[in-house]
Amino acid sequence: MNTTRPTTTRAVHLASRPHGAPTEDNFRIEEVGLPNLSDGQILVANDVMSVDPYMRGRMDDVESYVPPFQIGKPLDGGAVGTVIESRSEKIPEGSHVVHQLGWREHAVLGADDAHIIDTGIAPASAYLSVLGMTGLTAYAGLTRAAEMKAGDVVFVSGAAGAVGSMVGQVARLLGASRVIGSAGTDAKVARLRDLGFDAAFNYHDGSVTDLLGRAAPDGIDVYFDNVGGDHLEAAIDHLNNDGRVAMCGAISQYNSVEPPSAPRNLALAIGKRLTLRGFVLAKYAEETRPEFQQRMAGWLSADEIHWDETFRDGLDAAPKAFIDMLEGANTGKMLVRL
Ligand code: NDP
Repeated sequence: MNTTRPTTTRAVHLASRPHGAPTEDNFRIEEVGLPNLSDGQILVANDVMSVDPYMRGRMDDVESYVPPFQIGKPLDGGAVGTVIESRSEKIPEGSHVVHQLGWREHAVLGADDAHIIDTGIAPASAYLSVLGMTGLTAYAGLTRAAEMKAGDVVFVSGAAGAVGSMVGQVARLLGASRVIGSAGTDAKVARLRDLGFDAAFNYHDGSVTDLLGRAAPDGIDVYFDNVGGDHLEAAIDHLNNDGRVAMCGAISQYNSVEPPSAPRNLALAIGKRLTLRGFVLAKYAEETRPEFQQRMAGWLSADEIHWDETFRDGLDAAPKAFIDMLEGANTGKMLVRL
């Protein structure tokens, strides 16, 4: 056994449930023991952890497609790290792995719950963004939920974020005739133009439906919805006949304590024969992962996809990183180096 092996680690616990936007008081960092390994287990020193919008839903005591976090218990989520002790032949010491026990500096887990990653293709953190859940969500949402076809005009909201920035670039690579994105700052809008979006707007600059109308004079065929509310209403206004919406997220509502005031125009979906399809990645993950991995590896090696990361440092910074991500502080994926 590694003689420098730690016997305790620090983990972020849920201290209380938020009402509206979370605050740092909702989190507490605690020292916890690291048990000796049983056969088949590994000890991982986490290098980078992910903070994601879906974790906001898990802070509420509401059953959903993922169970709620428990008060007084550690949070969890995606992380990448280095194996520092192993009792599994599958995952030797020194391996880099991705797994689901983030929000802590070290994790003990079964070897079947971790996957070795190839850091020759991209740095480990990429397995929490472009090569991980967010890249796959973009790919599966476009190709399956939205049934995107070459020639479609595609609009994506939250376009400078982790999923959204992938959606715009993948849509272009899949043959979209025009790619439009919305984001919350002028700097993000400028970045979208660098990433190859044909049009982009700052949704604070006016009514979303007016801004989208100007960016999409011939309407849109696909809307990849990360935001909900007024963005969804605007998309329904501008969708062409037989248009499709991949309902991926509704981040404008996650911290809200009021019911949404939009969309008010759902009845337009009838005459336009629209399809609005909600999806969670789990529905498509297994079926899309092999083709996604193959195509994304090709796009990365040809330098056709770019991904941004916004880093915060240290476990103590993780709660604020999460809170700030919900408010738009990130460009690309919000990550915490541990
Ligand atoms: P992002 O990296 O996009 O970060 C969240 C972004 O949301 C912020 O940067 C901010 O950008 C934007 N935002 C916050 N509040 C608002 C608002 N009121 N109106 C418009 N934009 C807002 O996160 P992800 O890429 O990880 O996730 C994007 C969406 O995808 C989320 O809704 C998430 O829940 C969903 N998702 C769904 C999955 C599924 O399986 N269905 C899987 C993964 C993610 P800005 O500065 O532009 O406002």
